[in-house]
Amino acid sequence: MNLEHTEVKFWGGLRTIGGTIISVQYKDARVIFDYGLIFSPASSIFDGKIKERNVNTVHDYVKLGLVPPIDGVYEKSDIAALDGLLSVEEDNRETAVIISHLHLDHMGGMGMLSPQIPVYLTDETVDLYETLETIGEKVPGHRPNLKKCHFHETFQVGEIKITPIPIDHDVIGACGFHIATPDGAIFYTGDFRLHGRHPELIEQAITKAKELAFDVLIMEGTTLQDIEESKNLIVPDATLPDQLTKEKEVVEKMQAILQETTGLGLFNIYHRNVERVQDIIALKNTSGRKVVFELETAYVADQLLDSKDFAVYVSADTKMEHAAGTLPEWKQALLEKYEHVEAKDMNANPAGYFVQTTYENSLELLDWNVENGAYIHANGTPLGDYDPAYHNLLKLLKYIGLERFVVGTGGHAMPQHLKYVLEKLDPKILVPLHSFHPERLVPDNGRLLLPEYNATYIINEHNMHKQ
Ligand SMILES: [Zn+2]
Ligand SMILES: [Zn+2]
Repeated sequence: MNLEHTEVKFWGGLRTIGGTIISVQYKDARVIFDYGLIFSPASSIFDGKIKERNVNTVHDYVKLGLVPPIDGVYEKSDIAALDGLLSVEEDNRETAVIISHLHLDHMGGMGMLSPQIPVYLTDETVDLYETLETIGEKVPGHRPNLKKCHFHETFQVGEIKITPIPIDHDVIGACGFHIATPDGAIFYTGDFRLHGRHPELIEQAITKAKELAFDVLIMEGTTLQDIEESKNLIVPDATLPDQLTKEKEVVEKMQAILQETTGLGLFNIYHRNVERVQDIIALKNTSGRKVVFELETAYVADQLLDSKDFAVYVSADTKMEHAAGTLPEWKQALLEKYEHVEAKDMNANPAGYFVQTTYENSLELLDWNVENGAYIHANGTPLGDYDPAYHNLLKLLKYIGLERFVVGTGGHAMPQHLKYVLEKLDPKILVPLHSFHPERLVPDNGRLLLPEYNATYIINEHNMHKQ
């Protein structure tokens, strides 16, 4: 298996939003990026009703095709019943996995890997992951063998050189990767946007990638729509249209709604967007309302943010566990450190609070006085139509008479921004993926390559072609 040239294989993510898995091998060393799962409630066998098994987790995920059958990354004991797949023990290659950011479609499958496989994440990403682990958001399977890598610091797997380059996405620690072998180099963008808090990171990433030089650009194309819907060519343009909500405007929009609201303010967010958690804490000053987090998000804020000016929500269940002394230590510590808010406090003065409500905890709404309240839906799950839970949420809000305001913004660059970044990078070869319509992203000068699964691509003399 000792290769004389660089070999690239595409295992996932070519025509899906996420689940990007690509391997790059040179001689007896191999790098795989990323290792996510695709969230698709409509098509997934795991419907929330079938119980996932603890013992056969890896076997089940591989067998169901939720993670790909890649040789040399799974434990022998995990895949003993799967024919034709080499275990990590039987494979003499040096393999490392690198993860661009902590969204499930990029990291959800990393627990399937053998703990012998090092998994590299940036410093901030490891800190966030360890925080999530504590509050029960760990990946299924094994505890991954996490290794820290650092922005702009090149590290090696065999003779493959990897440089993490920071980009802006709606989660902290996100990066793209420059991956170089003696045959040529790849720049993988990860997920990115121009309308985030740090648009300068994209310009800097472009400069850095060009400085390091690359032959193949692997780029996300989430926002690309069906060509039939929009026959016009995508024109490169970095300006931010008025109708596009910029990340820094999300909190301003929340503030405007709160100002008009005479009742309780509620928000549903995704706390891996830690910067938005910080923005919400800051809303206390502008809205005059006390900001109240559920314990899980409070823990994220406590661990990763400097601002501690928030209270924690104590549900009836939490109160009972607290009294019985059965609360986990981390919850106990939060209750000792932060002000408690219960339903009765909020009901006495609804206009004095801005309180978190995640979908899982929806029944708490039944204890709250939500008259004249505003439910601000800011990219918390369920996200949209494709998720049956979304309709259930709308049904519930209607039932209790709570008005929903959609305030938020995504993590992905608009088509004209994708094209802008593409032309600035001006690659020799472009591989668009992480998209339902990757073929819509066409480079002006370089060659568009739409890879296939189960094929091998060779990088040789700074060019890539199908074997
Ligand atoms: Zn993604
Ligand atoms: Zn993402």
